[in-house]
Amino acid sequence: MTQTETERNTGAVAAVPTLQSSVGGRWRGSGRLTADINPANPAETVAEVDVADAGIAAEAVLAAGAAFRDWSARPAPARGEGLRRAADILSARADGIARDFSREEGKPLAESTGEVGRAVAVLRYFAGQTLEPDGETYPSQSPTTFLFARREPVGVVSIITPWNFPIAIPTWKIAPALAYGNTVAWKPAEIVPHTAVHLATALMEAGLPDGVLNLVLGRGSEVGDVLVGHPEVRAVSFTGSNAVGRAIQAGAAARGTKVQLELGGKNPALVMRDADLAHAAEQVARGAFLSTGQKCTATSRVMVEAPVFDEFRERLVAIAESWKVGDPLDPSTKLGPLASESQFETVTGYLEAGARDGARAVAGGGAARDEGGGFFVQPTVFTGAAPDSRIATEEIFGPVVTLLPVSGYEEGVRMANDTVYGLTASIFTSDLGQAMRFLHDSHAGVVKINQETAGVELQAPFGGVKESSSGSREQGKTAREFFTEWKTVYIEHVPPSGA
Ligand code: NAP
Ligand code: MG
Repeated sequence: MTQTETERNTGAVAAVPTLQSSVGGRWRGSGRLTADINPANPAETVAEVDVADAGIAAEAVLAAGAAFRDWSARPAPARGEGLRRAADILSARADGIARDFSREEGKPLAESTGEVGRAVAVLRYFAGQTLEPDGETYPSQSPTTFLFARREPVGVVSIITPWNFPIAIPTWKIAPALAYGNTVAWKPAEIVPHTAVHLATALMEAGLPDGVLNLVLGRGSEVGDVLVGHPEVRAVSFTGSNAVGRAIQAGAAARGTKVQLELGGKNPALVMRDADLAHAAEQVARGAFLSTGQKCTATSRVMVEAPVFDEFRERLVAIAESWKVGDPLDPSTKLGPLASESQFETVTGYLEAGARDGARAVAGGGAARDEGGGFFVQPTVFTGAAPDSRIATEEIFGPVVTLLPVSGYEEGVRMANDTVYGLTASIFTSDLGQAMRFLHDSHAGVVKINQETAGVELQAPFGGVKESSSGSREQGKTAREFFTEWKTVYIEHVPPSGA
């Protein structure tokens, strides 16, 4: 990592830094360089990446293994102090980090700045959790037995994260892993190495002992098998696509490794005739288009009660057409580019599939590439799609929403649940009874009433049902489930002499 002291302290970076992995507290690379590019201007190289190979990944796991005994023996509140210092460092560098994040991932600066702030808050939250009770006592059958159970760290944890929340998702996995005494080998997505180096640097500068957190800047296809299959790895926490997640789960099952998966979504919103339509349209637009639709929790299908369909569509189209697509660093931009060329191919492929299947784009419908060739697409609203067509059933991961008319609540909820996914779901209604019914009927891990499907708070459990998740929930106090195991302890004490 070739950054000067001043650059590190300000969060600013040299014109084109070279980024490396960190293993056992040392920067490491294989000498194979690739370019980290700006999706708003693909000719611009944001950083050079010295890509890790499987050998470096194995060293990262071994370094984590070597650091585990001392780290897990350290009092939890002392581990929490380290997280608190990392939060302070990250907070002091937030502006520079958010810029680098926007330049490599494409998220508008307001969103990337908000996400860095979320990472700071998550670190502080889990620092606080290190002061919480770590077990419970049980009344024993015997008068001379003291019986208790406490949570203990699992060991070496591999953490594999996607590019769409390049600092929030890694932090909400790494912070609890470390707080509860585990050591970590972390592989961020290939296209967001700069944000990853910023987070890892803040944690290491906060005083983590060497090897407690190891960063592997390698390709999933090259280092994934080692990170999941190495015999020292006790648990794997993964967020990303269903295909990769299921393969990881199969490999881990064969070895009895603990696994937590957060995968895709095809999140529905129901707009009922008694909803506040202005509010519903604003919330659906946020859920569908912010982060250029690249959220697992994005709103992708909207079931609208027939009598208000036209009015809702017009309101949503007006918002879509008013939101500016452009340079993520320009403060007036609402939608940046898609994060990569392959995302661009995927999303424009869905726009074409929608048109081919007979749907009509009433807003957007195509690419919005400028002379710089950035991976821009227009926020798109489809109507007239068959409920079983590709755009209405498959995760798109772009700023594309499909409106489907329904005759009433029953048809709406049936359609909402008619998906292999079950991450988030919303209903817009002013009828409390109907809202409560939806709460009960919805097959989703997160249900929102009169709120967009995206957007979650860090102190509450997060995760889905059906194909969207596996293993215990992330975030909040529930994060402890995954990153610790019970140890049950029987202490036999001799009765006082003379008793
Ligand atoms: P992805 O291709 O599955 O990548 C996710 C991570 O897995 C990346 O770090 C990737 O590395 C790595 N990976 C790829 N192949 C691997 C392998 N064989 N073994 C181990 N790791 C491997 O997903 P993505 O395209 O980056 O992200 C989009 C997906 O993530 C969407 O489906 C979205 O719904 C889901 N997502 C879910 C949540 C949630 O909380 N439920 C949140 C955000 C995103 P490389 O980058 O090097 O390929
Ligand atoms: Mg990928």
